[in-house]
Amino acid sequence: MKVPLLDLKLQYQSLKSEIDNALIKVAKSQMLILGEEVEKLENSIAGYVGTRYAVGVSSGTDALLMALMEIEIKPGDEVILPTYSFFATAGVVARLGAIPVFVDSETYTFNINPDKIKPLINAKTKVIIPVHLYGQSAAMDDIMKIAEEFGIPVIEDCAQAIGATYSYGRNVGSIGLMGCFSFYPTKNLGAFGEGGIITTNDETLANKLKQMRNHGMSPKYYHKFIGGNFRLDAIQAAVLNVKLPHLEKWHEARRKNANLYSRLFIEAGLSEREGITEFNTKNPVLLPKAVYRDSGQTNYHIYNQYIIRVDNRDSLRGYLGDHGIGTEIYYPVPFHRQECFSYLDNKDENFPVANFVAEHSLALPIYPELSEEQIVYVVEKIKEFI
Ligand SMILES: *Cc1c(COP(=O)(O)O)cnc(C)c1O
Repeated sequence: MKVPLLDLKLQYQSLKSEIDNALIKVAKSQMLILGEEVEKLENSIAGYVGTRYAVGVSSGTDALLMALMEIEIKPGDEVILPTYSFFATAGVVARLGAIPVFVDSETYTFNINPDKIKPLINAKTKVIIPVHLYGQSAAMDDIMKIAEEFGIPVIEDCAQAIGATYSYGRNVGSIGLMGCFSFYPTKNLGAFGEGGIITTNDETLANKLKQMRNHGMSPKYYHKFIGGNFRLDAIQAAVLNVKLPHLEKWHEARRKNANLYSRLFIEAGLSEREGITEFNTKNPVLLPKAVYRDSGQTNYHIYNQYIIRVDNRDSLRGYLGDHGIGTEIYYPVPFHRQECFSYLDNKDENFPVANFVAEHSLALPIYPELSEEQIVYVVEKIKEFI
């Protein structure tokens, strides 16, 4: 049986005529950049995330870069962020000449550990960037409390987490000063190319972002500040406008798949329950766990990824590959171990949780169209290997 890590063709097939029509409409209009489709998307995403404004941009990376430019991050400023994330979170900081200050992960979610933030704050600290990794919210109450105590803005990296909530009615991207989203095709809401969006409740910030994505231009050919070409294509917005109404259904299918995986691993005797953090004979597979921080909270995990931890991860990955099962490692190298950040002289022993995850994590196929049969097969093959 073949179980690819992700199969985008199935989603396209399910919406083919609607998407084709939307693409043709853009082709006929020849309104190719920004315009009506982008405005429609901005309104819908602001409504979906629960912010007053959303500004469509060229990618998730550019969303983060613009958010930092917006609060005028300068060379020598320090930016606190998790050591365990996709490269963009740290790359944008370094590109502006600022210093990325890495924080180890929390044990259950692998998100930034809020207990380790405070000791890193000093006069140079200009922003905190929590990442909602794999589609699960970071500990936003704790993070916002620290940020408010020190008067430091929070920029949320929501690239993997559109639609995730931290608590009832509080979507990621609506809690900090700005939320940065990606429409890269592998995210839960994917375009037909590159795209991103920034959410905020602040009107002044939203207007400045709109100007910034167009070289800081206003009026035409007059520039009060330097922006860039961070514009979103109409064709991407048109595809996203078709897809957005289906997003909740896709989240639910991913959550159902995640539940099934966890149940099957437990039934197969490979794990006693979700959220165990150390290997032993009864727990050769460590399962992810959606974390509920207080009673009554609804941490809505959208499972952009379903991540297990196993010993002999690389051999297991090879074995699954030989049996037609696609997997990935998100991510094998935390920032503090990246060659490009060796100049920061971080001590490896300060990041034990991220190091453990980097060495043992494996992403299994979790996309909405996956069949029960395929999930059963994946768990069977993992049991066989172990
Ligand atoms: C995908 C991703 C980004 C970057 O988004 P792009 O649209 O690919 O530029 C940033 N941060 C995280 C955590 C991501 O997963």
